[in-house]
Amino acid sequence: MHLSYIFKNIFLTSAALVLHIVSFSQFTPGNSYFGQNNYIEYIAGNLPIIISATHGGNLNPGNIPDRVCNNPITITDLYTNELAMEIDTAFVNLMGCHPHVILTHLDRKKIDNNRNIADGACGNPAAETAWTEFHNFIDTAKKYVTKQYGKGFYMDLHGHGHDIQRLELGYLVNSDKYGLIDFLLNDFLNSNPNNSSLRNLASNNLLNLPHTELLRGDLALGTLLANKGYPSVPSKQIPSILEGEDYFSGGYNIENYTSAAGGTIDGVQIECYKDGVRDTKANRKKFAESLAQSVKTYLTEHYGLQPAMQNCVEILPVELSYFKAFWNSNGKQVDIKWQTLSETNNNYFEILKSTDGINFLSINKIAAKGNSEIITDYTAYDNNVVAGKMYYKLRQHDKDGKYKDFETKMVTITGNQSAIKVDPIGINNQIKIHLPAGEKLPVQTEVFSASGKNVGKYTLSIPGTNIISAHNLSPGLYIVKIYSKGSVASYKVLMQ
Ligand SMILES: [Zn+2]
Repeated sequence: MHLSYIFKNIFLTSAALVLHIVSFSQFTPGNSYFGQNNYIEYIAGNLPIIISATHGGNLNPGNIPDRVCNNPITITDLYTNELAMEIDTAFVNLMGCHPHVILTHLDRKKIDNNRNIADGACGNPAAETAWTEFHNFIDTAKKYVTKQYGKGFYMDLHGHGHDIQRLELGYLVNSDKYGLIDFLLNDFLNSNPNNSSLRNLASNNLLNLPHTELLRGDLALGTLLANKGYPSVPSKQIPSILEGEDYFSGGYNIENYTSAAGGTIDGVQIECYKDGVRDTKANRKKFAESLAQSVKTYLTEHYGLQPAMQNCVEILPVELSYFKAFWNSNGKQVDIKWQTLSETNNNYFEILKSTDGINFLSINKIAAKGNSEIITDYTAYDNNVVAGKMYYKLRQHDKDGKYKDFETKMVTITGNQSAIKVDPIGINNQIKIHLPAGEKLPVQTEVFSASGKNVGKYTLSIPGTNIISAHNLSPGLYIVKIYSKGSVASYKVLMQ
């Protein structure tokens, strides 16, 4: 309920946003989407959580030279891609839904996705493309999270080789600042919001906690992780960093994609030590489970996203169990049937038809149940058909103006429809004549009265249905003669 409420508000915001949502629908949570040459991978998600693994790639294509520009660091953060995949699995097991995951498969010798494009791709076009794809996928994930939840949490995953075996959580706060007492640190971060990747959260969290509590209090991410056996800094256990100790405070991605730069998605750079965290599959799995539990607690306690996350599977306006279209040779019509399992905010269905599978014409609108939790069957039919292939599409319209197309069904129309067909009843002074596919055009036709008087001569030149407007005909019986393939056939038509 909560989610559909959010969605409704989002859709009413602006036409531009609606376009974005439509383009997002191409991503199915849990499916992978790749950039050029599979250098970058995006696993689409439906949780308010984004994870990137930035330096974990091991592809070394010969056409991209090793980076030498601007003092590059080229050391791989070993097994961080594998760790990100384990974290995805851990979230699915814990919450039934996927975080958004962005992976770099190119080796850090070829690309650095935690620097700007000039330093990260060193001017190589293929590396620049990969750099752009990586950062576009983060943007896509951010937009999706913002629209679905209004806020979220981003983690940029790395591996460090520092002496002290602890997780370094980078919130853009310089190591020396942790030496300040809480009052002064809060004061500093409140007056320097660009120095905090928790900027939005600190301004708006459930327990009204200040920065220092979110960084190193009882419910800080570092404290939650330390409680599970993964020493972390900052945390309640290790609140500050001593002079001379190594510490990464966060790089390009945290600077640009968290609330430090604006917006409502906070984040942290997680620098993982190797042994026990990312060195073996068993250790990665264990750490991933601890991280997923800790992040779930963090989002529940501070963001209040637990109710929304329980409904993280997108609520569809219509759950369709099937849509069928088939040629009914007895009824000489195409029968169209579909069934819904549930409906939410559903206005009506529309049937569209096409002879080429590309250009569709609306042929029918069917009122929908609207809101329903029980199975509902719908039927429609089309008797204006000629032999050959015909395509049918089901379109569902919401009450707020959106629509969704379900799959297209192809129907092969056979039997009598391969012959010329004349509607036996003429309505509104019109006679309908259906020419089958493959009929040689034009076709000549003449209309005679019951007493044998010629009352009209017409040329039919459209494949499919032709309509003769016969305004001079009074009600009664007429004979339509059609000249085709060297012979003539007669049809009776009763004009009303
Ligand atoms: Zn790194």
